[in-house]
Amino acid sequence: MEQTPVFCTIVPPHVLDKVARNEDRALAEPARRTLERDAAERTRRRLTTVIGALPVTGAEPSDRPRRTISDAAHRTDLPGRAVRGEGDTAVADATVNRAYDGLGATFELYLTAYGRHSIDDSGLPLDATVHYDRDYNNAFWNGEQMVFGDGDGEIFLDFTLPLDVIGHELTHGVTQYTANLDYFGQSGALNESMSDVFGSLIKQYALGQTADEADWLIGAGLLAPRVTGVALRSMKAPGTAYDDDVLGKDPQPGHMDSYVRTSRDNGGVHINSGIPNRAFHLLATALGGNAWERAGLVWYDVLTGGELSPRATFAEFAQATVAAAAGRFGEGEEHAAVVKAWSEVGIATVLGGTDVPRQSPAPEGARPPAHG
Ligand SMILES: [Zn+2]
Repeated sequence: MEQTPVFCTIVPPHVLDKVARNEDRALAEPARRTLERDAAERTRRRLTTVIGALPVTGAEPSDRPRRTISDAAHRTDLPGRAVRGEGDTAVADATVNRAYDGLGATFELYLTAYGRHSIDDSGLPLDATVHYDRDYNNAFWNGEQMVFGDGDGEIFLDFTLPLDVIGHELTHGVTQYTANLDYFGQSGALNESMSDVFGSLIKQYALGQTADEADWLIGAGLLAPRVTGVALRSMKAPGTAYDDDVLGKDPQPGHMDSYVRTSRDNGGVHINSGIPNRAFHLLATALGGNAWERAGLVWYDVLTGGELSPRATFAEFAQATVAAAAGRFGEGEEHAAVVKAWSEVGIATVLGGTDVPRQSPAPEGARPPAHG
């Protein structure tokens, strides 16, 4: 399967655009420079052909990650100087250790909850670079490795602080190797939502939190104290993560009634992802317990099942989750809870999961997986 790597920065361009227009140069300048760096990395990404790591014949992938953390020393050459490898003891730099632990926590959730060996399920080494550039207000997965900025300290803090940010970016790698969701419009918003869902699950698993105990925020702890807000996004209450004079207001909808039609942000991939994010939150809290178990399994089955179209709409994805729930758990509590969660965000699905919803006829090949 041809892979289309996504160049996703955790802070989307439309947010930095707004900061870059601020009259206070101390705020605008780092945002402007971050946008320039992101554009350069995005172009480089497009020109680089990613060749998927092929499993070595006969070799079982290891149950241990293979991590390397490098220090860019505030320059932009990647990967920089290696400062901590797999199994090495902690170093003096807390940023290095957080990146190391974050990659490990991501590997751990995918392995223990879903039996997945790293991003490609074949033991892909996990590499990260910290202290990228100066005052760099972002973090990204470039198709090959993670990159973290230190933030400017005015709007954003160190990007290794939120574990879900690390999990979000690495999950773009998982999606790249599996459903390969097209990064535009509804399929792009589903790609973003997958990263938020599993990013949050990685944090919940690491903290040992149930669905009711979790904060369901993406990027909590990342905003500097002067910013009025709690995170970049809220899966529980999309649109409420921040409302600030510099950052503006969180634009995410949580229901199809407020679906945002826009050409910005690849057709609103970081905006309308609020709708499937909230559906997942509703499902996980309705089922209770650990969200990575039943709710997470249903989402993971659809992501990796090989049946989802790369251009899937919300309705097609929703129907696939209904079918996956029935396939894995039968037509009981889980199946009914999936149907209810989607209906609460304005997306109708068909019980039983054998038909696609009338509102969005799916092409052949985008039919829900036949489980069982
Ligand atoms: Zn993303």
